[in-house]
Amino acid sequence: MLKRLRWGLIGASDIAATRVLPAIRRAGGTAVAVQSGSNEHGRAYSIANEIPASTTSLDRMLSYDIDAVYISSRNDQHVSQALAAAAAGKHVLLEKPVAVTCGQARAVVDACAAAGVVLAVNHHLPGAGTHSKIRELVRSGAIGRVLSVSIRHAVMLPERLRGWRLSGVPGAGVIMDITVHDASVLNPLVGQPAQAVTALGARQGPWSAEAEDAAMVVIAYGGDILAQTHDAFTSAFTETRLEVHGDEGVILGKGVMTQDPVGQVILTDQRGEREISVSDRRDLYDIAVGAFARAAAGEGTPVVDGEDGLAALAVADAALTAFQTGRTIEIDTLTQ
Ligand code: NDP
Repeated sequence: MLKRLRWGLIGASDIAATRVLPAIRRAGGTAVAVQSGSNEHGRAYSIANEIPASTTSLDRMLSYDIDAVYISSRNDQHVSQALAAAAAGKHVLLEKPVAVTCGQARAVVDACAAAGVVLAVNHHLPGAGTHSKIRELVRSGAIGRVLSVSIRHAVMLPERLRGWRLSGVPGAGVIMDITVHDASVLNPLVGQPAQAVTALGARQGPWSAEAEDAAMVVIAYGGDILAQTHDAFTSAFTETRLEVHGDEGVILGKGVMTQDPVGQVILTDQRGEREISVSDRRDLYDIAVGAFARAAAGEGTPVVDGEDGLAALAVADAALTAFQTGRTIEIDTLTQ
C-alpha cells in the first residue's frame, strides 16, 4: 500500500485551502504544519484549515517530520523555498510557475534531481480527463496532421484574488498566471518544441493594475504548427475552450480550461460532428496529488514534472518579454 505522505504547506494560500489541501487529505495525506510570512495570518489559517502547527520560519518548517512540501506562495517566492526544501531532502509539489525566470527554474529542477527528491509542478489541466482524451484523439490520427491550436482562457479574476496578481511584483499578471497553464497543455498536445512567441497585452479591468490583465499570445511550434491563446482576468461571461485544427478534422474542448472536471470534447470530421465520451471525471487536483504521491513512493512519474514545468514557463516567459518589448522572442535559448 502507498505510504500516506506527511506534508508541510509552504504558503498560507487560497489554492491550498480550496483545492490542494482537500486533495491531499482525500489521498490519505496529513498536513503537519503551514508556513506563512505572517504570524497572525499563519495562525488563523492553521486554525481555519485544521492544520496542527504554523510557523514563520522556513527552517522550522523543514525540521518537522514531513515527507513532502506543497509550495503555494507568491510566484516570486517559489525558488528559494523549493531550493531549501530540496536541500532538506523533501519531495516538492510546487505551484506554477516554477519560477519567474527560466534560469531560476532550471536551478530548481537541477537541485531536486541532485537531491533525489520528486519535483512536480501543479499544472492541473494536463492531467484532466478531457485533456487526456484530446491528446489521445490527436495521437490516434483522428484529425490528421495538426495545423494549429487555439485556446480561450479568459475568466473574471475573483475579488479575493485581486492582490499580488495585479501588482508590480515579479510573477504578477495574466501571462504568468494563465498563459503558463495554457503552455502546460499546448506543449504535450503539440508534441513539438515551442520555437518563437509574440504577444500583446492590455490593462482592461475595473481596477488599477500594474501588470497586464489580458493578453493574446501567438506561439510557433516545430512542424509549422501555430498556436494562439486569449487569456484574461476580465471576462465574466466567456466560456473557455481549446480547439485543435487538423487537416482531416477539428477537436473542440468546450469549457475545458477550468479547475473542475467538466467540459465536453467534440470531434468534427468528414463523418460530421459528434461528442466523444470522457470517462475520467476525477477531480483534477486528486489526479496531480495522486501521481505525486505515487512518484514519491517510486511508482511512476508526476503528471507535470520539473522539465515540463520549465518548458511551460519558457513559453510564458517569452510571451511576457514579447509583450514588454514588442518583439518576437526565440525560445530555444531560454531553457538551457
Ligand atoms: P494567495 O494570494 O491566496 O496566496 C499567496 C500568498 O499571499 C500566501 O502564501 C500568503 O503569504 C499571502 N496571503 C494570502 N492571503 C493573505 C492574508 N489574508 N494575509 C496575509 N497574507 C496573505 O494566492 P493563490 O492561492 O491564488 O496563489 C498561490 C500560488 O498558487 C501562486 O503561485 C499561483 O500561481 C498558484 N495557483 C495555482 C493554481 C492552480 O490551479 N494550479 C490556481 C491558483 C493559484 P504567506 O504564505 O506569507 O502567508
